[in-house]
Amino acid sequence: ATHEETLGFQTEVKQLLHLMIHSLYSNREIFLREMISNAADACDKLRYAALDNDALYEGDSELRIEIEHDAKAGTVTVRDNGVGMNREEVIANLGTIARSGTAEFLKQLSGEQQKDARLIGQFGVGFYSGFIVADEITVRTRKAGSDQAEGVEWRSKGEGEFSVADIEREVHGTEITLHLKSDAEEFADDFRLKSLVRKYSDHIEVPVRMPKVETAQDEDGNEIEGSETTTWETVNEATALWVRPKGEVSDEEYKGFYKHVAHDFSDPLTWSHNKVEGKLEYTSLLYVPGRAPFDLYERDGARGVKLYVQRVFIMDDAEQFLPLYLRFIKGVLDTRELSLNVSRELLQQDPKVEKIKSAVTKRGLDMLKKLAKDKEAYQTFWNTFGSVLKEGPAEDFANREKIAELLRFSTTHTDSTTQDQSLADYIGRMQEGQQKIYYIVADSFNAAKSSPHLEIFRKKGIEVLLLHDRIDEWLMSHLNEFDGKTFVDVAKGELDLGEIEGEEEKKAQEETAKAKEDLVKRVKEALGEDVQEVKVTHRLTDSPACVVLPEHEMGFQMRRIMEAAGQ
Ligand code: ADP
Ligand code: MG
Repeated sequence: ATHEETLGFQTEVKQLLHLMIHSLYSNREIFLREMISNAADACDKLRYAALDNDALYEGDSELRIEIEHDAKAGTVTVRDNGVGMNREEVIANLGTIARSGTAEFLKQLSGEQQKDARLIGQFGVGFYSGFIVADEITVRTRKAGSDQAEGVEWRSKGEGEFSVADIEREVHGTEITLHLKSDAEEFADDFRLKSLVRKYSDHIEVPVRMPKVETAQDEDGNEIEGSETTTWETVNEATALWVRPKGEVSDEEYKGFYKHVAHDFSDPLTWSHNKVEGKLEYTSLLYVPGRAPFDLYERDGARGVKLYVQRVFIMDDAEQFLPLYLRFIKGVLDTRELSLNVSRELLQQDPKVEKIKSAVTKRGLDMLKKLAKDKEAYQTFWNTFGSVLKEGPAEDFANREKIAELLRFSTTHTDSTTQDQSLADYIGRMQEGQQKIYYIVADSFNAAKSSPHLEIFRKKGIEVLLLHDRIDEWLMSHLNEFDGKTFVDVAKGELDLGEIEGEEEKKAQEETAKAKEDLVKRVKEALGEDVQEVKVTHRLTDSPACVVLPEHEMGFQMRRIMEAAGQ
């Protein structure tokens, strides 16, 4: 090896290594899944790159992953003939955590959270998980299509630094050797490895092979010494999971595949697998994660599906096929509608993309509708992603009724901060003669709940939605009606309770207004320019007065947002 240098891991990597080794011990077998997942990704990438340039295969186009072990030496080796890495890539990929936001995320974790394996998995344990079982890892790799002298060897004990050196490497692709810790030698075992491959990597399309040693026998059934021959046996199912018929895929397989696709560590909440033929042909396998990724609200956070064209992997995070308000959905889209050499730029121009997007969006919304039948699971979903879904009516006018069905609110019916009431629930409880859906927007649940605007509604037993998320006013400005009933902000404009109020009540109110004209005049004079108008109201039952906005004015919440934005 020449041109050898020793480099330090990025600080975050050191932190991650430390956290991982301590929090994932009881899950340590997942290291194999991570290695295979990376090897499969590398094969996908080579297949894609070779579409343009067949020579990258270097005459070996049969993509595969091989796993070997050596019980005596205590090693496990995972090898692929995928895309490989050059020196620069090795340093960047196996020396840092490239994904943005991870550093901040790590900093935010409290001591308790750091012990939580599921949180660690939030940014994908990935390659570094090898150090849960290994006290040294060697990576030998060469980028497909490069010179044989351009191989790279990476070595590390996972303790803060790694070395890289140039090596001669005949084949392209990557070979990772894990030198097992003495308490992890159980993994250098044929049976153990095989069952782990089946458990975690059955759904990987690339064949995962393991050597099978056979010995010839003489007439008496004795093994003939020196007659061992090794054949490679494919251990996994090796067909793309989404291509298989629904009925033949088990829940465990769907969950395992999710972890591969989403780089997540924990189970998804639900999924939806659809094969669509006819005018628009595509297969989609969409998942709702059980937890929010740390970059859910970041502008450039990873989102979108893994895109395949006729089973050939094209790109990760293809965000063109789902609207922003469904950005939490993960999964795979495979279609023959696009050409194999499609790029991100071309996707933006292809009219078929819009069609597929609208179809996939419907699938996504249907999946949520189904999930809503399971109240507990849906509540988990809502608590995690509800405020993202609330962006929907503004972004997707055509589907706003469907989205509205999926919304959940706090209301005066439960007076609880948990958002768990649907608009259908509300409508089911409407008073006789009530034609509108009443709501109030405030900065906090308590402010909404104790608003004087609610007094008359509480007295009359009319339910009001208590909106208190930052996005709620924005949401309501795009929701005009649901099921034919208009939404009314109880803090704005004239209060019209419609037919809920009897004629007599109305008359009595008018009389009071007349009788108090003098008082109104004096109050108006006292407040002067600060108010537009002073009126006698029947909104209040306990409070003497309240501030009301004209019907078409921007609400308080929006005003504050605009002010904060310097407008
Ligand atoms: P992720 O897979 O989520 O990107 P990992 O930590 O698993 O994160 O891997 C980090 C990076 O290292 C990968 O994105 C990839 O670029 C590179 N890498 C890891 N294993 C391989 C491999 N077998 N072949 C090529 N590149 C690899
Ligand atoms: Mg990975």
